[in-house]
Amino acid sequence: METKYIFVTGGVTSSLGKGIISASLAKLLQSRGYSVTIQKFDPYINIDPGTLNPYEHGECYVTVDGHEADLDLGHYERFINVETTRDNNITTGRIYQNVIQKERRGDYLGKTVQIIPHITDEIKRNVKLLGTKHKFDFVITEIGGTVGDIESLPFLESVRQLKWELGKNCLVIHLTYVPYIAAAKELKTKPTQHSVKHLQEVGIQPDILVLRTEHELTSEVRRKVALFCNVEPKAVFQSIDVPSVFEVPLKMQEQGLDTVVLEKTGMPVGETPSLAPWRGFLEKIYKAEEIVRIGLVGKYVELPDAYKSINEALFQAATYNNRKLKLEFIHSEKLTNENIAEALSGLDGIVVAPGFGSRGIDGKFVALKYARENNIPTMGICLGMQCMVIEFARNVLGYEDANSTEMDVKTKHNVIDLMEEQKSVSNYGGTMRLGAYECELEEGSNAAKAYGSTNVKERHRHRFEFNSDYKEEFEKAGMKCVGKNPETDLVEVVEIPGLKWFIGTQYHPEYTSTVLKPNPLFVDFIKAAITK
Ligand code: GLN
Repeated sequence: METKYIFVTGGVTSSLGKGIISASLAKLLQSRGYSVTIQKFDPYINIDPGTLNPYEHGECYVTVDGHEADLDLGHYERFINVETTRDNNITTGRIYQNVIQKERRGDYLGKTVQIIPHITDEIKRNVKLLGTKHKFDFVITEIGGTVGDIESLPFLESVRQLKWELGKNCLVIHLTYVPYIAAAKELKTKPTQHSVKHLQEVGIQPDILVLRTEHELTSEVRRKVALFCNVEPKAVFQSIDVPSVFEVPLKMQEQGLDTVVLEKTGMPVGETPSLAPWRGFLEKIYKAEEIVRIGLVGKYVELPDAYKSINEALFQAATYNNRKLKLEFIHSEKLTNENIAEALSGLDGIVVAPGFGSRGIDGKFVALKYARENNIPTMGICLGMQCMVIEFARNVLGYEDANSTEMDVKTKHNVIDLMEEQKSVSNYGGTMRLGAYECELEEGSNAAKAYGSTNVKERHRHRFEFNSDYKEEFEKAGMKCVGKNPETDLVEVVEIPGLKWFIGTQYHPEYTSTVLKPNPLFVDFIKAAITK
C-alpha cells in the first residue's frame, strides 16, 4: 500500500498529550495489522536534546541507533513496541544544519536558499523518509509546540504542502482543549474555534479534532465544534481525563478514531481488534492492591520527567508482579549517614539514578553503602552503577579517594575512568557512547538469571567506564563483573552475588522496557523487592 501520513498538531496550550494521542492511534492501527511508526518534530534550534539540561527538557531518550531523542519517543516505543531511530526525531536545528551543509556543498546551484522551498523541502524529505526508506504503512508525525508559535511555522507550511501533494494519503489531526468554567458550569469551545482558525490561516484544514477535556462533552458541544471548524461531526473526538494513560487507546477505539482515519485515507475498515493483551495489562494495573515501595535516588526529585523511562519501567515491572508501584523520589543532595536509615525506611528496594557531574553524588554513596550493608535490593543505572563501584572501592577495598575521573581528574584510584575513545572528543553534542550494544552475561550470574539469557542488547549513554585494572581486586572482595561487551571487554554489569539483589548496569535497561514486553531486569528486581 502507499504510505499514509498523519500529522498531529496541538492548539490552545501545550501539555495536552499529543504524544499519547499519537501513540494511541498508532497502537490501534498496529493492532489492525499495519506497520506504524511515529515521528516527532521539535521546533527548537538545538540539533538534538542531548545537550539539554533535564530542567529544560526532562529525560533524554536514547534510540537503538544512538540518537539522543525527545522523551516522547519513549512513549511511542512503550505503546507500540517498534524501535525508533534518529529518523523519528527531527529538530529545526537539524533541518537547518542539513540545508546549510547542502548550501556549502553547492547543491543549490547558485540559487538563493530560502525557508520556502528549501527548508520546507528538507522537512518534507524527513517526513517521507519513514515511508520510502523504512517502508511503514502509516507514519504519524507529531508537530511539537502549539499552533501560532513562530517556531513551528515552517513545519506547518510543510504540512500544508504535503496535504496538497499527497491528497487522500495525508490527514491532519488537531488536538485542542475545552476548558470548563466552573462559575458558569459550562464547557467552552471558543479556544478550540480560535485555534482551528489559526491553522486555517496557515492554509491547513484539520480533518479530525480531538478535544481534551476534564468533563464529558455532550453531542451538542461536538456538533457545535464541527460546525464552526469545518469538520465532520463524526470526526470530533473527546479525550477525557482517565486514571491511566494506557486507557487512552481504548477510549479512542470506543469512539472510532482509527476507523475514521481508515475511512478518510481510503482504507478498508474491517473488524475491530480486541486489544486483549493491552486490556490484560490494564486489568493488572487495576487489580493490583499490594504495594511495592521503591526509592529512586537522584538529584532531579522535583522533576519526575527527568527519569521518565525509569518510572515507566518500574511501573510495568510492578504491574507484572501484581503490585501497585509507590515510587518515592529521594533527593541525593539531602542524604547523610545520619538520616539515611530514616530516608530508606520502609522501602522494598532502591534505584540509584543515572546522571552527570558531581552534584548530589555523595548522597548516592551514602545510599549505596546503607543498601549494601543492610541487604536492600538495589539497582544502579549508568552513573548509579559507577557509584556502586566507587562506594565499594572506598568502603570495602579501602581506597578512600577512589572516584570517577568525571568527578576528580586527579584521583589515584580511578576505578571509573574516561573511555579511551572519549579522550580525543572535544565537541559535546552526540559524542558519548550511544545506542545499543551487545552484552555477554556470565552464566549463572544473577543478571543472567534475571534475563534468562547470557546474551542481551541494551542502550548506552556515557563517557566513563569501569577501569578493568581493578577487576581482579573487586572480584576477590565480592563485587563481580558479570557482563561485558564481547568486542571490547568493557565491563557493562557488576553485581554482589552474596546479596539479595545488588546489580549495576553501565547501560540503561529502562529504554527497552515496553508495556507488553517489560524489561526482565526490572521485573526481576521488583520480584526480589517483594520477596520477604
Ligand atoms: N556521567 C556518566 C558518564 O558519562 C554517567 C552517564 C549516565 O548516567 N548516563 O559515564
